[in-house]
Amino acid sequence: MPIARPDTNTLFHIDTEWFENNGRELRSEMHDALCDECRTYYPTPADSRPVDRIHPQTGEVSKVDALWECIADHCGLRPGFITPATPLTTGIFRALLSNGNNPMSPEQLHKRVVKSNPSGILKLLMGAEIENGVVPAQGNNKSK
Ligand SMILES: [Zn+2]
Repeated sequence: MPIARPDTNTLFHIDTEWFENNGRELRSEMHDALCDECRTYYPTPADSRPVDRIHPQTGEVSKVDALWECIADHCGLRPGFITPATPLTTGIFRALLSNGNNPMSPEQLHKRVVKSNPSGILKLLMGAEIENGVVPAQGNNKSK
């Protein structure tokens, strides 16, 4: 499917296959983002398990790692999750983690990371290097 010219309302998400294809472990990178409290529940990345996740819009049920829920429902809500000291690429990655990987636009990402600006974030995401598997979401739906 051809992708329309991306703008600051184009939605991006984390492509989990990108991690597999690039020899990186999404689960261990998510584990790194856990707060201390949750780390006591999941001492190592291998301690998490797949759980059912219901897509908020379509109601479709899929198996996801328990760490998604953990970050979306807990760690991602804590004030230290994204701070002014967090590098922009890490902040974008974490913003999507805490959103349960529901796609976000550069406008929305900017509100979450409070760094750079929406067009700067768009430029970064459309750069030659894909950072942390963040790519335009399929279908390229525009956010409202
Ligand atoms: Zn937590």
